[in-house]
Formats: sequence, structure tokens, C-alpha cells
Amino acid sequence: MADTLLKFLFRDAPVRGEIVRLQASWRQMVALHRYPAPVTRLLGEMTAAAALLAANIKFDGALILQVQGNGPVRLLVVEVQPGMRLRATAKLRETAAIGEDATLQQLTNPNGDGRCAITLDPAGRHPGQQPYQGVVPLDGDTIAQVLENYLRRSEQIESKLWLAADENAAAGVLLQKLPQEGGAAARPDVDAWQRVGALTATLTRDELLALEAQALARRLYWEEQLEHFPPMQPRFECNCSRSRSGRMLLALGREEADSILAERGAVEITCDFCNARYAFDAVDVGQLFASGAMREADASTRH
Ligand SMILES: [Zn+2]
Repeated sequence: MADTLLKFLFRDAPVRGEIVRLQASWRQMVALHRYPAPVTRLLGEMTAAAALLAANIKFDGALILQVQGNGPVRLLVVEVQPGMRLRATAKLRETAAIGEDATLQQLTNPNGDGRCAITLDPAGRHPGQQPYQGVVPLDGDTIAQVLENYLRRSEQIESKLWLAADENAAAGVLLQKLPQEGGAAARPDVDAWQRVGALTATLTRDELLALEAQALARRLYWEEQLEHFPPMQPRFECNCSRSRSGRMLLALGREEADSILAERGAVEITCDFCNARYAFDAVDVGQLFASGAMREADASTRH
């Protein structure tokens, strides 16, 4: 069965919801990296969360969810490109010792200066245009709590988030309280937010990991009337390329490129997300820098 993201409204409650369950795509990402179990869990929870957040906004571009800190894990990145194309990576410190049950705080935030950032990078962004970025401290025991705080602060939307991941699946549920509409004519269901939240809170981690999204929606909300949007199908896809790697090399500068060439005979750039390797020998590097100025001119007139 394909990975699924469900999006729905509660007919009798001013609440919208999303359920995501990633299995095939998540297993592909896990197989590429083989991180220690606590890192796999955290990155999986972030991947499920990023899919939920991307599906939640009307935006043409990439959503990037990032956690940075001074712990054994110094960086975790999840990107969602349009069409629910996901990729994820983590960077560990070389000497990192990671306990079997290491928490978010132990992994990323031992000094309290860790940060969580959400970036919205518009498609076809022209050079010089800054992507939108919101940054919050890692104040929470779980990434779900950190993101709930983020949503409350930055979007002023009351949100509840449940996330779980292991090496086989990454899954999550997002609920958001909508502003009441209809004024006095409507009969506001004041308990609806609590009721739907309490229903969802009966969910166990095992159920979240084991059940397909549709089965999960039935299990939780069988007494509720749901209005479904067309389901989405998230998938793993890396958008790295030789030309992107070339641009990274240009950014590195000629001097640095030449010194790597002198040392190793070629500059090799490995994609952090999918492990693809792009090698540039002396001839490639020469051509790249000769045409670099021209390419930049192309890029600035394209948009
Ligand atoms: Zn790649």
C-alpha cells in the first residue's frame, strides 16, 4: 500500500485534522543511512511532522524542517518538495556516543542552545530573495511539543501533534482548532476541541506505527462525521543533481577546489540525503569555473 496523508475536517467541530503514515518512503530513507535507533526515531518523527506541516499550508515551494544543536547529533534536516516529495538526513558528531534511549534533549540540546527552524523556500525564488524562516528554541521533551509551541506562537493556531517512528514506519496526527464561524446563528460546540483531542490521545505509539492512515482515522473518529480532502501520497525523492553539485563547488571557490584537486585528483561531492556521488576532475573543474560567471548571468535573467 502506498504511503498516505489524509486531510479532513470534523463536520460537527471547528477542528481540522491530518494523519500521515510513511512506510515505503521511510524505509528507503532509513536504508540509506543506518543511524543509531534514537536518531532514526527522531528523524522519522520530524519527517512525519514535515509532511503534516507541508500539507497544511497553501504554498508553492519547499518546506524545510531543521533541528540544530551542540549534542551528539548536530543537525537534522527534512525537506518536503512540492508533490510531497520527501528527503531527510542527520549529521552526527564523529565521536558521538548515543545511548539506546537518548532523548531529544540529550541528542540535540545538552547546552540549551539548540534550535528548531522551519523554512519556506518559494519555487523559482530569484537570487537575493530570502526564504521565510521561523526559529524557536528546543523547549520540549519531544519534537511534537517543540512544534506545538512553534505553531501556537508563530501561527497563533492551537495545535496538537502526535508523532512516532521506528525503522519501519514514521507516522503522525495533527489537529488544529479553527476559528468559530457563523456567529450567533451557529451552535458552537465548545467541547469539540477537547473531545477530539481526548479521542486522539487514546492512541498508543504501537497503533500509530502499525495502522494504515485510513484505519487509524476509523479507529479514532468512528463516532465523528469527517469531511475528507483528496488523500496525498508522500514519497521519497532526492532532487540533487550534477549541476547543483557544480554550483556548490563554485560557491566553494576556485582556490579550495584546486587544493582538493592537487590532493586527491578529483573533487567528489556526496549528497547528504541520498548518498549520490558527483565527481569533478581537473577538466570538469576548469570548465565549471570558466562557465561559472556565464551561468550566474543565466540564472539571474531566468526569473
Ligand atoms: Zn541526493
